[in-house]
Amino acid sequence: PGTLHVVATPIGNLGDLSPRALDTLRSVAAVCAEDTRHTRQLLSHFGLERPLLALHQHNEDAQAAQLVARLLAGESLALVSDAGTPLVSDPGYRLVGAARAAGVRVSPVPGACAAIAALSVAGLPSDRFVFEGFLPAKGSGRRERLSRVAGETRTLLFYESAHRIEEALADMALVFGAARRAVIARELTKLFETVLDGSLADLQARVAGDPDQRKGEFVVIVEGAGEDADAKIAEGQRLYAKLSEYLK
Ligand code: SAM
Repeated sequence: PGTLHVVATPIGNLGDLSPRALDTLRSVAAVCAEDTRHTRQLLSHFGLERPLLALHQHNEDAQAAQLVARLLAGESLALVSDAGTPLVSDPGYRLVGAARAAGVRVSPVPGACAAIAALSVAGLPSDRFVFEGFLPAKGSGRRERLSRVAGETRTLLFYESAHRIEEALADMALVFGAARRAVIARELTKLFETVLDGSLADLQARVAGDPDQRKGEFVVIVEGAGEDADAKIAEGQRLYAKLSEYLK
């Protein structure tokens, strides 16, 4: 059988598409994409033209069977999503599951992932973390979901969109407490990349006070519960670092 290559694409900066990702995309019989128009643009930016197959939430089950048949017949395929790593808040797990169940080799071409990129610059404990993806769109559902992780001691990662960032921060401050530390990573790898840190109350005020901070794509990272001692030590170290700049 062929191989299903799961290929990460950039989350903004096209320079993040790896040479191996390009080689892989060039070599496969077809590329399964979430939005074929979007992926066609990406490929043509790199001078590539491949047959594209749509694989999204609504047709994934039906498509998966056909794609697995092609893989079993010996064709290799690539799976990409619109941005970052497929399957991470994106379609693909049904296809990957079906391919694995059929004994097809599934191989990753790793690359950008917004959650991991944000975690890597957040400066919050990163040895153990929980990816919560998107919160429910409705207020009550969102607060319910937040309540369920309010006591979680590991660092929490959320995806958020521009039109809900303010409400999400307000609900986080409400459920987790306004003093909980958090980081907002916005537009990573893009022109207006910003990483803000502070208490949830701070961040809420900064986002409310600056319309620019409500534009684009967001990862919100929230410190876990009950790590008070660690948080105080980190705060102390932060202050010390600032002070020592002045004392130089
Ligand atoms: N599969 C993607 C990944 O690996 O990151 C995530 C896809 S999900 C549909 C899109 C969400 O990811 C956005 O709403 C935002 O929360 C986050 N995201 C994507 N690109 C981002 C970026 N450049 N900066 C910050 N967040 C981003």
